[in-house]
Amino acid sequence: MDADVVIAGGGPTGLMLAAELGLLGVDVVVLERLAGPSGESRAGGMHARTMEVLDQRGMLAPFLAEGRRLDGAHFSALPLDLTGFESRYPFLLVLLQRHIERLLEARVAELGVPVRRGVEVAGLSQDADGVRIETSDGTRLRARYLVGCDGGRSTVRRLAGIDFPGTPASLTALLGDVELADPPEEMIFQERRPQGNFSVLGFEPGWYRVLTTEFGAGAAPDTPPDLDELRATLIRIAGRDFGMHSPRWISRYGDAARQADRYRVGRVLLAGDAAHIHYPAGGQGLNTGVQDAVNLGWKLAAVVRGGLDHGAGDDLLDSYQAERHPVAERVLRNTRAQTALSRSDAQTDALRETVADLLDIPEADRRLALMITALDVRYPVGGPAHPLLGLRAPDVDLTTDAGPVRLYELLHAARPVLLDLGAEVLVDGWADRVDVVAATPVDPVWTAPVAGAVAAPRAVLVRPDGHIAWVAAGAVDQDSLRAALTRWCGPARATSPVDVGARR
Ligand SMILES: Cc1cc2nc3c(=O)[nH]c(=O)nc-3n(C[C@H](O)[C@H](O)[C@H](O)COP(=O)(O)OP(=O)(O)OC[C@H]3O[C@@H](n4cnc5c(N)ncnc54)[C@H](O)[C@@H]3O)c2cc1C
Repeated sequence: MDADVVIAGGGPTGLMLAAELGLLGVDVVVLERLAGPSGESRAGGMHARTMEVLDQRGMLAPFLAEGRRLDGAHFSALPLDLTGFESRYPFLLVLLQRHIERLLEARVAELGVPVRRGVEVAGLSQDADGVRIETSDGTRLRARYLVGCDGGRSTVRRLAGIDFPGTPASLTALLGDVELADPPEEMIFQERRPQGNFSVLGFEPGWYRVLTTEFGAGAAPDTPPDLDELRATLIRIAGRDFGMHSPRWISRYGDAARQADRYRVGRVLLAGDAAHIHYPAGGQGLNTGVQDAVNLGWKLAAVVRGGLDHGAGDDLLDSYQAERHPVAERVLRNTRAQTALSRSDAQTDALRETVADLLDIPEADRRLALMITALDVRYPVGGPAHPLLGLRAPDVDLTTDAGPVRLYELLHAARPVLLDLGAEVLVDGWADRVDVVAATPVDPVWTAPVAGAVAAPRAVLVRPDGHIAWVAAGAVDQDSLRAALTRWCGPARATSPVDVGARR
């Protein structure tokens, strides 16, 4: 084998997956078609759950240092309030995709994961033991797994024979990062006119993002858009061009919404835009891809490093699709709804007013904001019911013999953590794979989106992606704990009893 895992595509999803696998000691290589950074602005920021997953790996600080905080998100340009959310990051972090990619690539380099640029995956075949990958430069690589993080037009998806059903584009949108000689006095978040919509947003000092949307505009031309086309479109919709000049990047996109029907075929998997595309309403695409990577990374690492290869890890790998497909399906649904709400006609005006009225109800505003930020995602992890089960763990403060610690700090190594909060937990058969941490919660009540306020449990199994896989509210049911450990960490192994010194 040339590598345990080959990742096709070094966008945000591929880089995050490379960082997860590199951290866990997996022999991983990224193949990226582009010779250098794309320089594309695209995504404008990160939502709370993405910041949390970066925090779980101790890599959030540089992103926070470069980004700008906004305390609101939006649903089809109807404002959503994020303040007061039960997260350490109750805001939107405005940071362009090229900066996010640069910071992720720096992390990948720190971990020593090779990113081979200018190399494109062009062919693949798989057998029981691995995948043979052909690249555009004629090189052949053999790996145990291949993950297609190669974007919406994924070659890996096509070569693996995975269908991408969904709905075609019903609108044409243009985006330009430009300078404006005559900018509007205030940012125009979204103005709906009979001819379409436009927005003028100040992203970074000195230049603006101009967006136009035309509905029912028919098939978009194949030619790349230029400043003249953007200007003409803006004048058609807004009646003026704000003196635009000096474009940095101009792009055309639509609202096609499609999702891979399978996220895994044997040893080939998909993540990010390769698995799902949709209109970029609400800023969810990059976030969903990074969270796919965090869901998949530790599972793939457990399979290749933990001796679960050759079928024994199938359930664990299949849980990736079971957990992440419904999340992206919901994103497709909400972006379709947002597109419908942004049309310009009397019926849509009435619908928008109705939705805006409903969003005056704090609980309705909160429901949509939780969905857009993905703080409400609950995975079907099984096991005894508890309000926190399957949700992302709140980043609670804990006291241990070694001093105070936040729960997310305990996840920096991307290993499962069994928090012993005053119960008796037995993990002898899993001591090599699970960090047992004896701690006392600082707060006797934990609050989390969806779950609300819950008495601090006696013991909790937190997966490396930060989701709660098992909870004991009172006395520990060792059978259900063993079942959860088997499901998420593999079968028990004859190991020495828990090394108490390893506990904090
Ligand atoms: C206008 C616009 C605005 C957006 N705004 C937001 C936003 O605010 N928030 C948000 O979360 N998302 C936003 N998105 C979506 C976001 O940009 C994507 O969801 C995100 O880039 C997906 O990341 P990815 O790594 O999965 O795919 P990509 O970023 O597409 O990366 C795929 C990589 O694979 C490489 N590649 C392709 N084929 C091959 C091959 N055969 N072999 C090797 N490499 C290959 C490509 O060169 C590329 O680098 C926006 C998108 C657009 C178009």
